[in-house]
Amino acid sequence: MKTLKDYNLEGKKVLVRVDFNVPLDDDLKVIDDSRIEGAKPTIDYIIEHGGTVILMSHLGRPKNKEDKFSLKHIVTAVEKVVGKEVKFVADSIGSEVEKAVSELKKGEILLLENLRYYKEEEAGDKDFAKSLASLGDFYVNDAFGTAHRAHASTAIIADYFPKDKAFGLLLAKEIESIEKVLKDNKKPVTAVLGGSKVSSKITVIENILDKIDHMIIGGGMTFTFIKALGGKIGNSLCEDDKLDLALEILAAAKKKNVQVHLPIDVVIADSFSNDATTKTVLVGEIPEGWQGLDAGEKSLAEIKTVILESKTILWNGPLGVFEMENFSNGTKELGKYIAEATANGAFSLVGGGDSVAAVKEFKFEDKVSYVSTGGGAMLEMLEGKSLPGIDAILK
Ligand code: AMP
Repeated sequence: MKTLKDYNLEGKKVLVRVDFNVPLDDDLKVIDDSRIEGAKPTIDYIIEHGGTVILMSHLGRPKNKEDKFSLKHIVTAVEKVVGKEVKFVADSIGSEVEKAVSELKKGEILLLENLRYYKEEEAGDKDFAKSLASLGDFYVNDAFGTAHRAHASTAIIADYFPKDKAFGLLLAKEIESIEKVLKDNKKPVTAVLGGSKVSSKITVIENILDKIDHMIIGGGMTFTFIKALGGKIGNSLCEDDKLDLALEILAAAKKKNVQVHLPIDVVIADSFSNDATTKTVLVGEIPEGWQGLDAGEKSLAEIKTVILESKTILWNGPLGVFEMENFSNGTKELGKYIAEATANGAFSLVGGGDSVAAVKEFKFEDKVSYVSTGGGAMLEMLEGKSLPGIDAILK
């Protein structure tokens, strides 16, 4: 896979699509700059190799050109991360932008205004993409979070750079990490699938069954499987219209020689609250009025054995209601096992919104091999779909 490192950037104006869709507080200050940090290696690389950087991003979902979605609010945060001045222009295309670009000196950075101020961005409009493309000599896509969208700046623009286009370093790392799990993997490969719903993970499960040796099922989606198998789940979360599907998944796994690990015991609670009364029972013996909210000790012991034997691990979704302290143990323990396996040489990829939040909260970020930044894009790759933002660079 070619990245911008395979090209000569000397003297080039490099248009970089980044994902600076960062959270802002009420005073419009950046709360979490991880996405800006994510783009730093690409920005630094271009400058170190003689290029000039033109950054483009979206922020939020502006209906009109609402000021609170202006990228001017993030300029200081970007300057702090890259450690240099960042110029800003209050538009994304047109004469004012062209002037700002023509005045750029080698090694400087210019940030364009929110691309989604133009409806043409999400519509994938060709003329808008062409106007953006006219600003630079080389196009880099480093925005994994929007790689599953065929927007003007994420995909269509690449048509105007038949040769001079490449993946940014962040996007390349995301693609490589997923390939290390799905393609160039070392066996045994284990997927841990948790979170609330079977329905939101079904396409992922179907696609990865061919590639994995173990599937650990945890979190709220457990109970749809347990009920389908005839267990008593009390008031636990369950998708009653997915019972047949759960059985089909188990049958498909068996056919493909994937070992499925459902929980043995669970921590149950008499209400959905951190202060609820709790006890631990076997997973198929939950009394009425009680609900399973975390993995039990026996389940964790089995999970630990499987994880420590794995050479490749994919983690998507928490093992319990980790947002509540009293039901966070299973998710924290799982994080520890994955950290230990990683220290012993396994490759571990964490992806999908809530497991990323859990990994950050419990400080496992540096102890796993890779934490994916793009929730929806990562899921679509795991589902086996091709992503427009990636295809546009490859073609
Ligand atoms: P998802 O977005 O499908 O990955 O689900 C993540 C959410 O599932 C988190 O907010 C967890 O609190 C929730 N969750 C995990 N385990 C359970 C459970 N046993 N019962 C209810 N919700 C759960």
